[in-house]
Amino acid sequence: MSSFFDTKIEFLKGVGAQRAELLNKELGIFTYGDLIEYYPFRHEDRSKFHYIRDLNEEMPAAQIKGRLTSIETIGSGHKQRLIANFQDATGNMELLWFQGVNWFLKSLRINGEYIVYGKPTMFGGRFSITHPEIELINPAKDQSGYFMPVYSLTEKLRKKFIDSKLIASWQKNLLQIADPYISETLPKEIIEKYRLVPKNISLWWLHAPKNYDELHQSHRRLKFEELFYNQLKLISLSLVRKNEYSGQVFNQAGLITDFVSNHLPFELTGAQKRVLTEIYQDLKSGKQMNRLVQGDVGSGKTIVAFISMLAVIEGGAQACLMAPTEILAQQHFTNLKKFGDALGLEVAILTGSSKKKEREKIHTSLLDGSLKILVGTHALLEDIVQFENLGLCVIDEQHRFGVAQRAKLWEKNKNFYPHMMVMTATPIPRTLAMTLFGDLDHSEIDEMPPGRKPIITVHRYDANRLTVFQFMRDELKLGRQIYIVYPLIEESEKLDLKNLQDGYESISRAFPGVPLSIVHGKMKPKDKEYEMQRFKKGETKIMVATTVIEVGVDVPNASIMVIENAERFGLSQLHQLRGRVGRGAEQSYCILITDYKLSKDTKVRLDTMVRTENGFEISQVDLELRGPGDLSGTQQSGLVDLKIANLAKDERILKVAREEAFEVLNVDPKFELPANLPIKNHISKIKNKELSWSKIS
Ligand code: ADP
Ligand code: MG
Repeated sequence: MSSFFDTKIEFLKGVGAQRAELLNKELGIFTYGDLIEYYPFRHEDRSKFHYIRDLNEEMPAAQIKGRLTSIETIGSGHKQRLIANFQDATGNMELLWFQGVNWFLKSLRINGEYIVYGKPTMFGGRFSITHPEIELINPAKDQSGYFMPVYSLTEKLRKKFIDSKLIASWQKNLLQIADPYISETLPKEIIEKYRLVPKNISLWWLHAPKNYDELHQSHRRLKFEELFYNQLKLISLSLVRKNEYSGQVFNQAGLITDFVSNHLPFELTGAQKRVLTEIYQDLKSGKQMNRLVQGDVGSGKTIVAFISMLAVIEGGAQACLMAPTEILAQQHFTNLKKFGDALGLEVAILTGSSKKKEREKIHTSLLDGSLKILVGTHALLEDIVQFENLGLCVIDEQHRFGVAQRAKLWEKNKNFYPHMMVMTATPIPRTLAMTLFGDLDHSEIDEMPPGRKPIITVHRYDANRLTVFQFMRDELKLGRQIYIVYPLIEESEKLDLKNLQDGYESISRAFPGVPLSIVHGKMKPKDKEYEMQRFKKGETKIMVATTVIEVGVDVPNASIMVIENAERFGLSQLHQLRGRVGRGAEQSYCILITDYKLSKDTKVRLDTMVRTENGFEISQVDLELRGPGDLSGTQQSGLVDLKIANLAKDERILKVAREEAFEVLNVDPKFELPANLPIKNHISKIKNKELSWSKIS
């Protein structure tokens, strides 16, 4: 059955060897199966024809039938262009070409009847379309309206005249012969319950819909299918772990009680307590924990991690905490050491810059079990780092770590996999969390420690910089400290550095006598750390930096965050940066400085920042603006690989698909019931394709 879809694409009517090679190289399409699964990313409504009289500038595109009444070239050389006059019964307009002038001049016919398609714009009181699609009206051909699928293409393909129309025609050729081979992938019961269209029809209605309703029905079905299998995979992954991977039992809370009642300098928030209970339940369950702890910047995740470690340590095991940067590891170490000292527990730090002697000492004391808590960076992953008994791994700021690294930590213990706790401050919309971390249990610290004043966020233009400087001087006089952040343009580190250094110089001139720090990615970790420490101790008053300070850094006395070229930052980055202030008792400010010229999206980003401090609201806007693929870290996870579902829009379908996936796995985890045969078959097909659903996500 599958052999039909393995047929090489060159054998499809209309393709041939040469184009097949282009499809291989440019789009990764090798077989019939690849082509049919090459989905259009949008459709253009060509079902209607417009009259010239009815055009307006708001239309994204219009399709018009009419006659070419004149064609002329204007200008010469580079500036040469072709202008045609096009008219229908209701009026006339211009068609414009800047490229391919000679070709069009030769092939267009004066007085020919054409169908024209493109975006109408108004110029000098007349409508025009630049580089329209244009086709002679041909009574022998069916040119009645339709919905045209638009496929993503490359420049090379376009040069060889492989466009969406051509691909759509191949899809039709293929569908005609493929129909009997397309097997249903969803159980009948689900199809009926949600009134989904069958698989074969959904493919017809995707590649060649006749109207909106067909398209909509097709989308509904294919999205459901995609999300259903995504959830089936994640949920079964987590079930496999729960059923097959035992965990060490840690069920003593004496140390926790001692710490919380005698040494903790504040009262835990309700959310922290709730999350700790969830973690404790896992630790004593006898199953390996895999838990995501999500909490906005400043919600107090570190202390939750530390308290969890205490249960493990009391049970005779060790814990580690891995952070993505040296600065963060150092800061975690400083905090945890303070707590550890109070309880007489040994805490150490291991990073790329640890000296040989320290390393050796750490290696030995890990092995003999005397070292209880190890904090560090990627250095923790090295094979030489071996524990006597690693009971709990905490990973901070998960999105900076790859999946393989999580897996590596698993292997650090002999008899049991260690319990895993992943902490993230990146607010992830629920839909994304479900697809990205659907295999992890999920805890949320959704409450801030008391007494935090809301941060005042404002947007200022470059031209107001002097006023901003004056405000900064006033705050400095009150004893506050300030961050000034410059963007990082990855294409040109040199330019970045120049940008930063220029900034640094102008700040030194504007604030004579004020001690400054500068921190950027090119500095040695040791020097960075040194500068950070000076700022933390209050020896310097202004920290000029790139986004290296983005995550986690904690300096309570710093109450002002100035972000230069704020238009160049993404929303979640702005939110993370703002999270650096507002940690102390003073009123904090975030000042976003931009150019006058701002795109629509940038305005939305800035307005959102000014309007709200709620990380989830911000992440939702971010998701809508950028689409899920761009949210930090999701690409590398490889888990959110959705072709048709849109996480920003399809939350309802996702929820239902998840429920159904749970239901199926509950009743028939191995898909042995006849009703679930379509699932069984489809999964074995997917498995052949991607080798395996590996046990470790
Ligand atoms: P994040 O979740 O961003 O990692 P941290 O763990 O760094 O936040 O905590 C931010 C600050 O809040 C730290 O200074 C921490 O000591 C403090 N903190 C944490 N929990 C509480 C609490 N319940 N009450 C008061 N302060 C707290
Ligand atoms: Mg943190």
